[in-house]
Amino acid sequence: MKVPLLDLGRQYAALQEQLESALLETARSTQYINGPKVEMLERKMAEYLGIRYAVAVSSGTDALLMALMALGVGPGDEVITTPYSFFATVGAIVRVGARPVFADIDPDTYTIDPHQVACRITERTKVILPVHLFGQCADMEPILEMAEQRNIAVVEDAAQAIGATYKGKYAGTMGTIGCFSFFPSKNLGGMGDGGLVVTDDPDLADRLLRLRNHGAKPKYYHSLVGGNFRLDAIQAAVLLVKLPYLEQWTEARQENAAWYIQQFHHHGLVPYYLKPPTIAAGCRHVFNQFVIRTPWRDALMEQLRQRGIGCEVYYPRPFHLQEALAFLGGKPGDYPHAEQAAQQSLALPIFPELRLEERQEVVQAITDFYHQTIKQENINLEMIHKRSAA
Ligand SMILES: *Cc1c(COP(=O)(O)O)cnc(C)c1O
Repeated sequence: MKVPLLDLGRQYAALQEQLESALLETARSTQYINGPKVEMLERKMAEYLGIRYAVAVSSGTDALLMALMALGVGPGDEVITTPYSFFATVGAIVRVGARPVFADIDPDTYTIDPHQVACRITERTKVILPVHLFGQCADMEPILEMAEQRNIAVVEDAAQAIGATYKGKYAGTMGTIGCFSFFPSKNLGGMGDGGLVVTDDPDLADRLLRLRNHGAKPKYYHSLVGGNFRLDAIQAAVLLVKLPYLEQWTEARQENAAWYIQQFHHHGLVPYYLKPPTIAAGCRHVFNQFVIRTPWRDALMEQLRQRGIGCEVYYPRPFHLQEALAFLGGKPGDYPHAEQAAQQSLALPIFPELRLEERQEVVQAITDFYHQTIKQENINLEMIHKRSAA
């Protein structure tokens, strides 16, 4: 049996009639950019998140870029972020001319470690940019506290974490500005690119609205240099159909995750052979990705792929070792937790429509790998334990 890492076709089939009628209606409306569907989406998203302002934009990448532009971040400024995320996070910082400063991750949650952040704050620090990676919030309380004391803005990259909470607060609503993505593989995905920027600050909301359309207000009078960061009405129409299902999809992801974790324990794979995701206290993890960790990652990935099981490495190379960022002078060993995560992490199928037989196949394939491949190698468990504890 083949098991896809993600099958968007199942979600489409379940909502086909609603989606297609929304698409047709939008096509016939000839209102293709911004307009009532986009405004409705902004209202619904603000309501869902419990925040004052939501600005729909062209992508999650542009959401991050606009957040930094709205805060006036530029040359001479430093932005503290994680070295372990999708490249858009750091790309936005470099594109506004600021310098990314990395703080290593917590090896259990893969999110930025507040202690590491504290060590890297300088007079130049303008923003702290935590990423709620894989669907779980970074440890925000100490970050928000540090930021407030020093008058530093906090931009949350919540692209993978729509609906996640931290101590009862939604991802994206805790900092100065929150950024979301509607890329098709995100928990709430459109039929193309899309994103959202949220804030409680009316001045920032006004700047974001202007930045979205070349800084114009009114039309053809430009108080800022922005860009074309607008959202297509077609994406808003699709997202409005999908939003009411977000909670049930999230719950299905969580059930899949809980089932996997229980099975890994049941088969004796934890803790020596693999480490399942850690759900931090006070956090609601929405499992955009279900990421396990194992010292035999490459061999396991190879075997799963041979059996037709979709799996992927998020992400194989941390930012400080990326060619495009060589000018920052990063070198191996700088951020050991991020580097080890890049070598050991593996994402398994977790999407809401995943069937029981498919999950069973994934667990069977992993169990077979450890029993047949690893046990035959006669590896000393104590040594493995030390290695995974290190
Ligand atoms: C997907 C993603 C982005 C970028 O979103 P796009 O909509 O693809 O531009 C940014 N940050 C993280 C962590 C992401 O996963």
